[in-house]
Amino acid sequence: MNTTSTPRHVISVFGLGRVGLITAVCFARRGYKVIGIDPDNHKLDRIRSGEPLFFEPGLHDYTKAAISNGLLTVTNDPLANTGSDLSYLTVGTPSNLDGSINLDYLKNATASVGKSIRKSSTYQTVVIKSTVTPGTARNVVRPILESESGKSVGLEFGLCSNPEFLREGSAIHDAEFPDRIVIGSNDMKSIDNMETFYKELHGEHTPTVIRTSHENAELIKYANNAFLALKVSFINSIANITERVPGADVKTIATGIGLDNRIGPKFLNAGLGWGGSCLPKDLKELSSYSKTLGYDFTLIEAAIRVNDYQKQRAVEIAQMKLGSLIGKRIAILGLSFKPGTDDMRDAVSVPIIEGLLARGATVVAFDPAAVRNARGIFGNKIAYATDPMNCISGADCAIIVTEWPEFDISPSMFLKLMRYPMVIDGRRVYEAELFIRSGIDFSAIGLGT
Ligand code: NAD
Repeated sequence: MNTTSTPRHVISVFGLGRVGLITAVCFARRGYKVIGIDPDNHKLDRIRSGEPLFFEPGLHDYTKAAISNGLLTVTNDPLANTGSDLSYLTVGTPSNLDGSINLDYLKNATASVGKSIRKSSTYQTVVIKSTVTPGTARNVVRPILESESGKSVGLEFGLCSNPEFLREGSAIHDAEFPDRIVIGSNDMKSIDNMETFYKELHGEHTPTVIRTSHENAELIKYANNAFLALKVSFINSIANITERVPGADVKTIATGIGLDNRIGPKFLNAGLGWGGSCLPKDLKELSSYSKTLGYDFTLIEAAIRVNDYQKQRAVEIAQMKLGSLIGKRIAILGLSFKPGTDDMRDAVSVPIIEGLLARGATVVAFDPAAVRNARGIFGNKIAYATDPMNCISGADCAIIVTEWPEFDISPSMFLKLMRYPMVIDGRRVYEAELFIRSGIDFSAIGLGT
């Protein structure tokens, strides 16, 4: 990647959550001066000490380096970006109860940027990276910027929609090597500026740049996540059939269809459903937004329904096999919504554990990264193990909820440590035949019995 070229931008990032902090440290890594702005003082202190509040592979090293070389400074001063030439909006856009998204954080941050533009003599380009409903850049962000700054978009400052596609767990890699860059705007100068910046940032690794309207950029993000969720809900539906067909296995079926290059192998891993901070929220929003346009996006609603059902499969299987769950000790291997992160937002472990507790089970859980966040959700309603072996010891059933590499446990260990050796492989990480042959009472999503 290019680290030497000029001109050098001064970049502000509003919102130092998962997207914002990753964005900020990756820019600093390339030598840009970055000002990170967030109202959360605790978060800021942790970043200043080089110990961010959340886990992401590589993030500690990047943060420590950016703070110690002075390229990243963080502050709660909303006007600290005065003088920057790029201002990124990476604040959260959480779901409202009706499925639509809450734009309050975005509106607040936008107002701050507008005020700073009023004071600034630099031509600033504002970049919306938060995931927002189509029309937000045009109808929400632009009017706030223009009224707070007293200046005109396209003439005195720029505005772009630049959705983020990074995946938690590989976020730094994805930020440094994106597979495409989408830049939406109504003014060509903003698009040109951003394309030039990204070419300077990524050098020979610059991927395809899609230059388009705000609305297309905003919709690309939703369509992207909706498609991924549909693919998983599709294979999970196939899994629910294969479980009822002796001799059938969804894994083989996924391999078979994934080799069709019109389909591809990714996002065809059957399991306990999708969760996380993006897919559930973005699908709800796409469905809610479609309704405002007079279109019932039934496909999305079906994907959500399939997913809701899928999250309860492990509880159903445990109950079917063990009968009553009252007093049964269930080991939960994996709490985060996916491996490589400590993010528990909409993690499927939550409804699974709630389902087990409601049926009277005792739950002991282990996760390499997410225990701190899980404690915030479950408190002392469940026990937390210090390692996977400790988690399965004395259990009547072990459920693999997140496919962390740490759960590479041999059948003999399950047999040795568990009170009753029952394993529910919710992520298809084990070799089924080996486990069944060893005498384990083994079930797996999509495995016909
Ligand atoms: P987050 O909740 O982790 O972080 C948001 C941050 O914004 C918080 O630190 C909060 O304190 C800060 N904030 C709130 N109001 C502010 C203000 N007025 N000024 C400055 N900072 C403010 O959210 P996230 O997961 O980083 O997601 C951010 C956006 O990116 C969302 O729209 C999300 O949908 C989208 N997105 C997330 C991911 C992901 O993997 N997490 C991936 C792609 C896109």
